[in-house]
Amino acid sequence: MSGCIFCRIVAGEIPSKKVYEDEDIFAFNDISPARPVHILVIPKKHIESLAHVTEADTPVLGKMLAVANRLATEQGSPDGFRIIINTGRIGHQEVPHLHIHIVGGPEPVGPMLKKV
Ligand code: 5GP
Ligand code: ZN
Repeated sequence: MSGCIFCRIVAGEIPSKKVYEDEDIFAFNDISPARPVHILVIPKKHIESLAHVTEADTPVLGKMLAVANRLATEQGSPDGFRIIINTGRIGHQEVPHLHIHIVGGPEPVGPMLKKV
């Protein structure tokens, strides 16, 4: 998708701090980190959101999670981390290319959400 920021990052048209790449997946540091470790893991294939995945995408999704675990450990969050996948309007997804946020670091990230 030519207009998509994350597709352009995969293509090298927009610079990023890459932490991992293979034939299916690209991972890079978030430009505006919320925690000392804040990495985005994305499929190279443009998939708009988790709401748009199909059965055929499940191998790459599994691989993204396994890579996320490894990257969190290697990149400074060996004692645990949080995975976030914001999805659609209600999930406050800002970039319409599926991405896993890995957030962590030396300190706990805090409670998940304020309870209602
Ligand atoms: P979302 O709200 O869609 O789940 O998260 C999008 C994330 O992408 C945000 O945390 C934002 O800081 C990050 N982001 C947006 N544009 C860029 C960019 O051009 N480069 C990088 N590295 N991160 C970006
Ligand atoms: Zn895209």
